[in-house]
Amino acid sequence: MSTRSAGERAQWRQAIHAYERSTTWADRSTAYKRKHGYRCAACGSTYGQIDTHHLDYQRALRDPGQEPDSDLIALCHLHHMAVHDFVRAHPQQGLRDGSWVVINHIRKQRANDRALGVTGGKQHGALYRLFRWLWAIIAVLAVGGVVAYAFLDMWG
Ligand SMILES: [Zn+2]
Ligand SMILES: [Zn+2]
Repeated sequence: MSTRSAGERAQWRQAIHAYERSTTWADRSTAYKRKHGYRCAACGSTYGQIDTHHLDYQRALRDPGQEPDSDLIALCHLHHMAVHDFVRAHPQQGLRDGSWVVINHIRKQRANDRALGVTGGKQHGALYRLFRWLWAIIAVLAVGGVVAYAFLDMWG
């Protein structure tokens, strides 16, 4: 990419833009998402808009609609935007590697959140449950201590 001139880069972007507006791409994208369950590869969400992101455009532009699954990945709209923001800010990483940096980062963050039980809902992690019990015990001891002290003070 770095060896391309500004004019070539503009032409490349234009070709991508035209392809992503084509019915060929709409069909390819739908087929990919259907096969992969309309699920964000980063966060696992199946809600809202799921996009198909290109990890590589070479084969897509050479042979529209025939790019292999390995050139594509399904992402929720939010994480699709996050991937493009990162790739734009770190062009030296390249599209494929840069995309995976973001996807893996989100996956790792999600795993940590699950372990800490901060995802909400009923799926609290073991650490969250442990902390909740510890706090309950500390609260009971604290209240008991205050009550005991008050009694001792009253009778003492
Ligand atoms: Zn997502
Ligand atoms: Zn994309």
